[in-house]
Amino acid sequence: MLKFYNTLSNRLEEFKPLIDGEVRMYLCGPTVWDFAHVGNFRANVFADILRRHLKFKGFKVTHVMNITDVDDRIIARAAERGQTIDEYTAPYIEAFWQDFDAIGCERPEIAPRATEHIAEMVTLIEQLRERGHAYNSDGSIYYRINSFPAYGKLSKINLAGNIAGASERIDTDRYEKEDARDFALWKAVETEAETGWDAELGRGRPGWHIECSAMAMKYLGTTFDIHAGGIDLAFPHHENEIAQSEGATGKEFVRYWLHNEHLKIEGETMSKSKGNYYTFRDLVAQGYAPVAIRYLLLSVPYRKQLNFTFDALRGAEKAVESLRNFGTRLSEARCETGVNEELRETTARIAKEFETGLDDDLNTSVALAALHNLRNATNTAIDECTLRLVNKTEIEALLKRFDSVLNIFGQTEREMLDAEVQRLIDERQEARRRRDWARADEIRDELAGRRIILEDTRDGVRWKRG
Ligand SMILES: [Zn+2]
Repeated sequence: MLKFYNTLSNRLEEFKPLIDGEVRMYLCGPTVWDFAHVGNFRANVFADILRRHLKFKGFKVTHVMNITDVDDRIIARAAERGQTIDEYTAPYIEAFWQDFDAIGCERPEIAPRATEHIAEMVTLIEQLRERGHAYNSDGSIYYRINSFPAYGKLSKINLAGNIAGASERIDTDRYEKEDARDFALWKAVETEAETGWDAELGRGRPGWHIECSAMAMKYLGTTFDIHAGGIDLAFPHHENEIAQSEGATGKEFVRYWLHNEHLKIEGETMSKSKGNYYTFRDLVAQGYAPVAIRYLLLSVPYRKQLNFTFDALRGAEKAVESLRNFGTRLSEARCETGVNEELRETTARIAKEFETGLDDDLNTSVALAALHNLRNATNTAIDECTLRLVNKTEIEALLKRFDSVLNIFGQTEREMLDAEVQRLIDERQEARRRRDWARADEIRDELAGRRIILEDTRDGVRWKRG
């Protein structure tokens, strides 16, 4: 039975979508003011495992992830550079998708941009005004938290306390509000020179929270199944999304709220001032394979804090390499026809472990353990010459099925790990010593096909990526 931990109820719940066989899910996407960091990618890999497991279970998935391409930081930086916000964000959007593909995430079905949905946000704000949830002040429009008694139901925030300024996104100094907790839906823009949109509401620009409500409901309906994101977004962002959406429609917004925990770097919170802030591309530039980063990020279940260390990253590279070697060994294994019943039972048990693990709130560490068990059992059978043709076919199919969720074998365009490159270079040297020119050439071509350039030097063969 598929179960998720729902932040709304604070418990593990059986997952049943609104429409049988179909899941509609939303993930808060990137704010494209800079390159995405490794913490952002923990959320992306978590959502990727979620969507892939739902597909593994046979659901049709519609996954929406917004692109926040307007906010105060983007506007300020674009102005500094004398660019329009489109000019400023375009390279970051492109970089985001490159990173997203490289880390093996499947693209969502729909990735709407905030600046292309201003009309939907304006309509939603108008609905909120009609229903008494919003008010004007100095040209800006605010959400009246007092008008929504259920406020706090997701984050269980204590409203008695003063929460003003709890988020850097709430600007408490600049505008007049009825209540310090109220948040901006529409921010007045006074001059033509400043980035803004002319609307019935007056010239302005949307607040961050309203964009997710507007785009989620446009593409997924007023009520949908899953909303995911990092735990830091539960308050105030997701709380505000609920207040806006349910305030406007009077209907339940989201049925299951899933939040992933933070990650730490070498035991510490990641920050630019500590010098431990890494974008995904920083790590790739240092030579770490994207698939190893993916493996490390998914090795810890999403609701547990993850300590991202370079030792663990090197360990992840070795783990991926050993799994890929196993995949190669299996495909090259010669075996007799027939079936080894004992191995078949073991394989079936491991298949169950994998699925049960992921069904239990996406326990990826159990799923990975199952994969390693499969490798060990199969390697033993190959060593002992007890692998039979039926087993081989079944295990190959199972590996493919596991990898449809984990995506670490890289059935599409797989990049090569440093250790694999070195192994092939060593094998090529060995082939040349044996005067096996055909094999040596084959390896050279294989490496060239993967853009690995070889250089013969006095100290031996050196290589680099082309
Ligand atoms: Zn959002």
